[in-house]
Amino acid sequence: MERNRTPVVSGWFTGTEEDGDFRLLGTRCSACAAVFFPREDAYCRNPHCPGGGELAQTPLSPRGRVWSYTDGRYRPPAPYVSDPDAPWEPYTLIAVELEAEGMVVLGQGAPGVTVADLAVGMEVEVIGGVLNEDAGTVWTTWRFRPVEPAGVTA
Ligand SMILES: [Zn+2]
Repeated sequence: MERNRTPVVSGWFTGTEEDGDFRLLGTRCSACAAVFFPREDAYCRNPHCPGGGELAQTPLSPRGRVWSYTDGRYRPPAPYVSDPDAPWEPYTLIAVELEAEGMVVLGQGAPGVTVADLAVGMEVEVIGGVLNEDAGTVWTTWRFRPVEPAGVTA
């Protein structure tokens, strides 16, 4: 049976890991051009905004630079969803300063990306990934991975 692919949070990103056009989605205020992620749909949170703007959905930069990173060596407490009987797989958490917006977005590293692969200031890209799977649903999310410069090997 084909399982549903469902974003773990609705409206925060678009695309899939397969289509190569995965983007985080924020909103931009038409009055002051402030960009929000997570998306702000109710009102502009910029205290210097002249007001009266509309918040429109906008795709965020597909790339950014590592601002900070760490790894999660321990199982987070509820409501994090994990199987208590499965061995805990350490994951890498990366804070990325997006190229155009300059805002810092948190996300997990793509599978196989460890802290040993990362450095502050390194260029990374956002891709689609899977957070969790159950019998009927594949819960999708975003991940970051280093951008390999063409022709350069590590
Ligand atoms: Zn505004």
